[in-house]
Amino acid sequence: MKHKTLKGLQDILPPDISIWHHIEKTAANIFKSYGYHEIRLPIMESTEVFKRSIGETSDIVEKEMYTFQDKGGRSVTLRPEGTASFVRAYVEHHLHNNPPPQKYYYTGPMFRYERPQAFRYRQFYQIGAEAMGIEDPKLDAEIISMLSRILDSIGLKGLNFEITSIGCKECRPDHKIALKNFLGSKLDAFCSDCRRRYDTNPLRILDCKVPACIELRKGSPPVLDYLCKECKDHFDSLNKYLKLLKVPYRVNPNLVRGLDYYTKTAFEVSSENLGSQSAVAAGGRYDSMVKEFGGPPTPGIGFAMGMERVIPLLKDVIEISDGPELLICPLDNAASEKGLHLAELLRAKGLWVEINHEITSLKSQMRKANRISAKNVIVLGDDEINSHKIVVKSMIDKVEKESKLDADQIAAILQQRS
Ligand SMILES: [Zn+2]
Ligand SMILES: [Zn+2]
Repeated sequence: MKHKTLKGLQDILPPDISIWHHIEKTAANIFKSYGYHEIRLPIMESTEVFKRSIGETSDIVEKEMYTFQDKGGRSVTLRPEGTASFVRAYVEHHLHNNPPPQKYYYTGPMFRYERPQAFRYRQFYQIGAEAMGIEDPKLDAEIISMLSRILDSIGLKGLNFEITSIGCKECRPDHKIALKNFLGSKLDAFCSDCRRRYDTNPLRILDCKVPACIELRKGSPPVLDYLCKECKDHFDSLNKYLKLLKVPYRVNPNLVRGLDYYTKTAFEVSSENLGSQSAVAAGGRYDSMVKEFGGPPTPGIGFAMGMERVIPLLKDVIEISDGPELLICPLDNAASEKGLHLAELLRAKGLWVEINHEITSLKSQMRKANRISAKNVIVLGDDEINSHKIVVKSMIDKVEKESKLDADQIAAILQQRS
């Protein structure tokens, strides 16, 4: 019987993996320039970690978590997102004792039991960043600018940056009343989930993905109109700083986040080229979460970027050149031994070198050079070994260059051509 990946999961194979490396490396370099340190977190947590922070009435907790009992009878959950795990770690290791801002990033798989569709998987990968301990909107502007720089540097174009403020616990009650007034008269037409949410958490209705509900809630009062003075000042300053940093964005008062923990700033980056799953990255501020996890009151802000959303956008943009610098083609056993040694000497210099271990005709060795996209070839036979001279042939422009049969000289030629 042949086995297959589970529904909604995928294997990531070469050459696609080169795009993954490109994104991860580019992001890591930019994180470094902003002082973000990598943090590695477990992929499962006690179920409570997610329930309390993401919200009992959110779609994620209600429908999408991979939750099960382990052999010790504990309820554990595969992480559906990174921030809750991060905050758990932040409090557990007293990272708040270090001078603010504390800045971290992570990469890794997340799990949600959703209906698989294009660009949406049940195991999906995120690169996320979290900055802790500063309430000032300059930090918000900085992290949004960093995200913009990352997306730009990996080669993404034509993205929409949208920001809003979703208020705080002071200003939300007024908004909630206005929202309930707006939705109340047509509540019967909403889906059963939304009718229930009307009493438990009406804000969640703004996040419902049922098309009828999306239509019905059009024109609902945005929280942006109900901000308290503190939230409004915060948002106004953020706008000022984003303009100062020349981040291209627009305010979208209807932006909603599917997680309960956000306060004030929320943002999303989307692409028109991804169909209905248009979000590429999203994030926001979560000023009360650390306290709710038992730590001292500590503001925080973060974002996560979806790898499976970014990669299809890059496939036509990034040229993946994935082939060895050199293929050594030996013509007999003695040349094969010589080549084996030469390959080692060149690899020690950091060059990607392949050698044909099976001696076949020169024609078939050249065919292989093309198939593996080798950039250069060396043919090794009696003549080359006796004269101690070889020819490095470029497979790209067919230029031939003579060299001593000497690793230093060959390496110099390869480096010149790469
Ligand atoms: Zn407020
Ligand atoms: Zn609904």
